[in-house]
Amino acid sequence: MTDFLTQNQEKGSVRFLQPPSLDKDYLGKKIICQRAIRQQCPAFWVEKTKKHSIAHNYGYGGSGWTLAPGAAHYIVQLLQQKMPQKPTKTTDISVIGAGVLGLFTALELLEQGYKNITILAEQFQDLPSHHAGALLAPAFMEVNADYQPLIHPISLYAYRFYHKIATQKHPLFSKGASLLPLYIPRKETERFLGYVTAGVMKPAQKVTLDFGNGTTRPMAVFDEGIFINTGLMMETLTTILKPYVTFINQKISDLSEIHSPVVFNCTGLSAKTLVPDSLVKKAVGHLILLKNQDPQDWQYMLSAHSGPGCDVSDSKAKRFLCAFPKHIPGTSPTDIGVIGGTYKEEGAEPFNDEEEFDQIIQRLKIFYGI
Ligand SMILES: Cc1cc2nc3c(=O)[nH]c(=O)nc-3n(C[C@H](O)[C@H](O)[C@H](O)COP(=O)(O)OP(=O)(O)OC[C@H]3O[C@@H](n4cnc5c(N)ncnc54)[C@H](O)[C@@H]3O)c2cc1C
Repeated sequence: MTDFLTQNQEKGSVRFLQPPSLDKDYLGKKIICQRAIRQQCPAFWVEKTKKHSIAHNYGYGGSGWTLAPGAAHYIVQLLQQKMPQKPTKTTDISVIGAGVLGLFTALELLEQGYKNITILAEQFQDLPSHHAGALLAPAFMEVNADYQPLIHPISLYAYRFYHKIATQKHPLFSKGASLLPLYIPRKETERFLGYVTAGVMKPAQKVTLDFGNGTTRPMAVFDEGIFINTGLMMETLTTILKPYVTFINQKISDLSEIHSPVVFNCTGLSAKTLVPDSLVKKAVGHLILLKNQDPQDWQYMLSAHSGPGCDVSDSKAKRFLCAFPKHIPGTSPTDIGVIGGTYKEEGAEPFNDEEEFDQIIQRLKIFYGI
């Protein structure tokens, strides 16, 4: 197996991190939220019905944010190629769903000059898209080798998109993504291989994390990890779209209800019944927002699928460690940090939710030695 860590770093340098405060007074909202994962590969296809051309764009599991800008770019191109007659700039277009996939799809259409775009959604707030961490985390690149040729360019497009925001080079977004050190176990660096070999991300280096309390951990670091502040990005995306796009609060029970000839289906979990697509599964995740933290201590991301306290019971139910500097717009600057995590697909052994929150805190306490 290739070692993707830089060579001359056998021991690694030491980095000091102040552990987060994880006692009762520092814990905020507990969140249980659902990922829609489409087995094998997210949905990227176009179907032609009597009334519509429908482009499907859902089922991203734990990588929705990671891929969304690239997926939106790809699906709009695919629709243009597959439609017998290309849509004109004034064709009515409906985007169903106002999560990250729906909003980025609408943004892509807007940037391409389409003028009559409507977003229809049952819900606009409190979506999985608001709750996600979010680390640029290429989960699909990890598990679905057959679909790499499709996913890889999408993931690179998305990385470059967020990198532009993080480096203040994006014409529309001045904030919402930042470059931060991402600490992961050394044996997990291959998860990011696609970015490294494409030259968009520098290779990881070996480091030893020192928490100043006698606990040290050998880890790897990608100094250009991308952190996406999801609440802020959802807010900014909506603000950019609002003057040009019609937003309608409506639940769609059948795709035939839509009047416009072009439809983008970005309904996440609902695609299971709406399409219907039996490959779509629900995968629950547990997160805890933190409060009363020192923002200076939150200048990094931690993501580990292995390590103290992690257990991978089977591929459908996993426990891991994550800590990201998530901040909800409008809250106190000291309300920063989110910890997790779990991944439990439907059909897997049920976790007891309250116990799971306790487990997350315990796992992180063991990791940080507190
Ligand atoms: C705990 C957790 C942590 C995560 N962390 C990360 C991470 O670190 N990095 C990452 O890349 N991703 C992460 N994700 C995954 C990411 O959040 C999702 O992949 C992404 O939010 C999915 O976006 P979406 O737009 O497809 O769906 P959603 O956000 O679920 O939005 C679906 C939209 O469709 C609408 N809709 C559904 N059905 C209908 C209907 N019948 N009629 C009208 N409207 C309808 C809904 O109202 C909503 O507006 C995480 C997810 C979870 C749960």
